[in-house]
Formats: sequence, structure tokens, C-alpha cells
Amino acid sequence: MKTFCILSLIILVGTCAKPKYTTKIQNLKDSITLVDSTLLKKYAQTITAKELKTHLYKFSSNEFMGRRVGEPGQKLASTFLESYYIDENIESPFGGDNYYQTIPSSFFGGKYKNSENVMAYIEGSENPEDVIIISAHLDHLGISKEGLVNNGADDDGSGTVALMEMAQAFNQAKIDGFGPKRSILFLHLTAEEIGKQGSAFYTKYPVFPLENTITNLNIDMIGRVDAIHKYNKNYLYLIGSDRLSKELHYISEKINDTYFNIDLDYRFNAEGDNHDYYSRSDHYNFALHNIPVIFYFNGEHKDYHRVTDTPDKIDYDLLEKRTQLIFATTWQIANQENRLVIDINNELLN
Ligand SMILES: [Zn+2]
Repeated sequence: MKTFCILSLIILVGTCAKPKYTTKIQNLKDSITLVDSTLLKKYAQTITAKELKTHLYKFSSNEFMGRRVGEPGQKLASTFLESYYIDENIESPFGGDNYYQTIPSSFFGGKYKNSENVMAYIEGSENPEDVIIISAHLDHLGISKEGLVNNGADDDGSGTVALMEMAQAFNQAKIDGFGPKRSILFLHLTAEEIGKQGSAFYTKYPVFPLENTITNLNIDMIGRVDAIHKYNKNYLYLIGSDRLSKELHYISEKINDTYFNIDLDYRFNAEGDNHDYYSRSDHYNFALHNIPVIFYFNGEHKDYHRVTDTPDKIDYDLLEKRTQLIFATTWQIANQENRLVIDINNELLN
């Protein structure tokens, strides 16, 4: 009898607990209200394959010599980005015309020359203290042993030019009177290829307090198609989106379902996945500080970390669509009524 009672209790608790959690998730999903769909679509459309292509052919050209940390090619890449933001009249978070956060050689243990993160900033109109960080790394592998340039068109030229186009779109919206309510930092990180040192430096010496940094959307390779998706290129891997903020995950899903219908592939987000991509790019340093992240990634391909990662192999229409998805997700987080909530503070989940 005693065993029967305990068993009944377990079954009872089991059946009661399960729907309760799904109800919480449903309530969370229902609480997400998409904002300004007409405006969002209008400015997303200013992100074009043509402009992405123009920027990427320049950024991954031999002129930049593979953008190795601290070397002249990387310095040229930083100058190129700074000049772009000055020409576009997009501000620096420091004011004036300095867009660099300099990282001394000592931070790299003296093994590399000094380098810099490059950043542009659009201040929010209503909640400027809340900051969304969109990031991509600007550095790459330099010149190969054979003397060939590692162009790094996908890695991470694709993420770099996505940031340039998104910044331009948000800035145009601001000029037209529809600037984001929360602030956006466009963060071009250096030294990713030598162990995520640019993001390690930024999170150690943040320009805006980390407690006000509400999310980091990090892009590292979004211009190609991997072997798994040879027959369905309408996909993107998302990693990390549900780990710290389910709200972030469901915003991302709702934006995609409403406007894009990309197959969001979460296989590499599985806990314990042996590729461990969650810890392998710059977003991880933000996640370590309890900042919700999404890592956008097309997967590895035969040209990954080879001199054959060139701009002619990028699918620009796909790059456009993926960039627009990230833009639209950012637009929602920047403009929705409530500040993005991490799960431990989310009343709907607790
Ligand atoms: Zn990369």
C-alpha cells in the first residue's frame, strides 16, 4: 500500500509538473509582440547582396594580406572600417573620430604586436543605457607558409560586412526618425584567431557596463553552405540562443517564422556536442558574464582556414537573407517594450 501511495504521488507530481512547464513556455511565447513590421521590412531591404559583395571583395582582397593580428594588413582592415563609419556618419562610442579600442601587445603576452577592436555606435532614443552588441571578428590568419594570402572571405569577412550593412540600415532609420530605442554597438573584434583575445579584452575592459549589455549577437561565417546542406542552402546554425534567455530564443524564432523561414539548425547547440562551437567564437566571452548570446554560423567547409576561402565562393543572396534575419532580430530587441530578460529573472518561467 505504501509503495502504491508513493507511486501514485510520483505519477501525480509528474503529470502536474509537465503541463505546467509547457504552459510557462507558451506564456513566454505569447508575451512576445513583434514591433514595427513595416519599418523593419523597409530598413531590412536596404541590406543588399550587391553592397555586401562590394564590401567583401574589398575586405578580403590581397591588399589586406590576410589580416593577421597586429600586422600591416590587419591595420589596413581596421582603417578601412573606421573610414567607412566616418563616411557614413555613424558615430564612435568614444565620440570624435577615434573608433579604436587599442589592445597592447602585453595583453597577448608580447607574442603579437598591439591591435585594436573597432567599434561604431548608435545611441538609443529611449533607453540609451541598454546596449545590444553585434559582433564579428576582423582578423584572420595572414599569409600562408607558401606565401599565399588567407583571404578569409567567409571567415569572417562575411560577418564583418554584415555589421557594416546593419549599421548603415539602423543609421538610415535613425536619420528618418526611427532610430532604435536601445543602443547598438557594432563591435569588430580583433585577435579571435589567436584565442578570442579581442572579446576577452572587451569583456575585461568594457566600453559600456556589462550589466547593461543585454545581448551579444555574434557572427562568424555566414556566407557559405556546408556539405550537410548541399541540397538545402536555406539554413543557418544558431548556437546558444536558449541557454541564458529563452525569451531571446523565442524572439529569434518568431522573427524568422514571420519574415524569413530559414531552417534554423540547432544541432550544434546540443549540450555536450563534441564540436563545442558554443565556446569557440567571441560570443563565449560574453556568455561567461551571463549575457545571453546567439552565435550565427554556416558550418565548416572545405575552404575553412585555407587560402581558398575567397570572395567568389560566397553566396551573396544567402548572405543578404541571413544578415537581414540578424538585423530584424536586433530591431525587435532594440525596440520592443520590455528589456530582454534572462531566465533566472523571468517571472514567466519562475
Ligand atoms: Zn572565424
